[in-house]
Amino acid sequence: MSNDCIFCKIIEGVIPSNQIHSDDLCVAFPDINPKTKVHILIVPTKHIPTIKDLGHEDEKLMGHLIGVARDIAKKENLEGYKLQFNVGEKGGQEVFHIHLHLMGN
Ligand code: 5GP
Ligand code: ZN
Repeated sequence: MSNDCIFCKIIEGVIPSNQIHSDDLCVAFPDINPKTKVHILIVPTKHIPTIKDLGHEDEKLMGHLIGVARDIAKKENLEGYKLQFNVGEKGGQEVFHIHLHLMGN
């Protein structure tokens, strides 16, 4: 938990979100400013700022995020979709707590 992290606050329930998934490792909720018809963020409960900060111990976690995104996409009846990590300010990252964008129309 990082005190000034908006996604940690969402995970803790301090900031409300419309959670559509939650398990031991991650939560998922709709993006507040959707760029596609379905735009969901899959967010690990562990505070890791960026992809650059990942360690070998996080490999299982990162695979899990992709599996959760696939399951949500199936429930949403998305035939095709994009999965995206923005990495660093120059990569378009605004929230420095790793999150996977699931985007589909
Ligand atoms: P990034 O640019 O860091 O990859 O993506 C951050 C995403 O988080 C943006 O698409 C933005 O709309 C979303 N976001 C920022 N603040 C909130 C919030 O308080 N609630 C939700 N649900 N999404 C947020
Ligand atoms: Zn955080």
